[in-house]
Amino acid sequence: MAIQFPIYMDNHATTPVDPRVLEAMLPYFSGKFGNAASRSHAYGWTAEEAVSKARETIAKLIGASNPKEIVFTSGATESDNLALKGVAEFYKEKGNHIITTVVEHKAILDTCKRLEKQGYEVTYLNVDKDGLVDPDDVAKAITDRTLLVSVMLANNEVGSVQPIAEIGKITRARGVLLHSDAVQGIGKVPFDVEKMNVDLASVTAHKIYGPKGVGCLYVRRSKPRVRLTAQMDGGGHEFGMRSGTLNVPGIVGFAKAAEILIQEGEAESHKLFGLRERLRLRLMKELDELRVNGSMKSRLPGNLNVSFSFVEGEALMMAIKDVAVSSGSACTSASLEPSYVLHAMGVGDDLAHSSIRFGIGRFNTEEEIDYVADLVIGKVKKLREMSPLYEMFKEGIDLSSVQWAAH
Ligand code: PLP
Repeated sequence: MAIQFPIYMDNHATTPVDPRVLEAMLPYFSGKFGNAASRSHAYGWTAEEAVSKARETIAKLIGASNPKEIVFTSGATESDNLALKGVAEFYKEKGNHIITTVVEHKAILDTCKRLEKQGYEVTYLNVDKDGLVDPDDVAKAITDRTLLVSVMLANNEVGSVQPIAEIGKITRARGVLLHSDAVQGIGKVPFDVEKMNVDLASVTAHKIYGPKGVGCLYVRRSKPRVRLTAQMDGGGHEFGMRSGTLNVPGIVGFAKAAEILIQEGEAESHKLFGLRERLRLRLMKELDELRVNGSMKSRLPGNLNVSFSFVEGEALMMAIKDVAVSSGSACTSASLEPSYVLHAMGVGDDLAHSSIRFGIGRFNTEEEIDYVADLVIGKVKKLREMSPLYEMFKEGIDLSSVQWAAH
């Protein structure tokens, strides 16, 4: 098949809608347009039936024992907000302390900042050089005022997969709730809310080949029953936890995306791993001074985050416009600040600026991987040819010892 340009390799940002998902959704825009809350006629019943089937499929994907534990939302940003603010508010008499990590998505970090302004205390755990949190640090941070621990399943920049099962053992033993932003890991690495003692989990459809603007929050109903204060007031939809008319076509698409992952997720992860390794090994073989950011042992199969020393990140991005990827400077909005995730892992500003995140997905092919490898290798070599620093480095000069003239 002919390659389509630019080659899409930014599957952590979003994924294209799988054609099977689109097909499942279409009837719910036209003939089956009912409001799932309409109890008095067949249009409503049809919509309600589709939503309830969707709940079952999504519950199955994450190992939830009861479909009523799935609360539909507009996506993971909302789910993260609802989990943290909802729990903090509901249990405020019990405590005021939340534990999270410095590498969470902004949907968690900014929510925590707001809670701090309201008087809650937040502990931000550091990560090691691979971007991983130490479960012992979680245990040490828990106090008798701790309500909730929130740790992501997999990081959206460097793909590091956190030890959720180990953390779950600790939080369960200490009687503290565990939330996980599972967005990036769902269907790619093992995740099971029962086996891992997860009490709340955020999921979004547009990272698993479903539509944008729909997601869910898993809220455990027993052992323990998790309560939360709704953040949206209205008709009391979603068991009183999230008011608002349900996005039925979106939910149907979300469920179809989940069904495909239940059936094909494991095989797909193998394929993604193979493609990722093909790209990594080519780059490592033909370029020196590369640094792969993130854990190689505990990592999303489709993630490759690489820093290219002696190359200016923006110049490289411009040079490889045939590929849609993200850079370590642009991850957090349009600003050119180096990524806070790489920073937290001890990566210096220069290397953070020169990092590229390849997010390999379902529709990438070996042919595309080879094209991208050739392109990146060629452009990095060219940019380095123009770099006096690289030349000095090649001549064996220790750059840290150079006394640069002041301007
Ligand atoms: N959490 C993580 C780890 C993400 O990668 C994203 C997406 O960028 C989100 C939350 C936000 O999800 P949504 O776009 O559904 O609000």
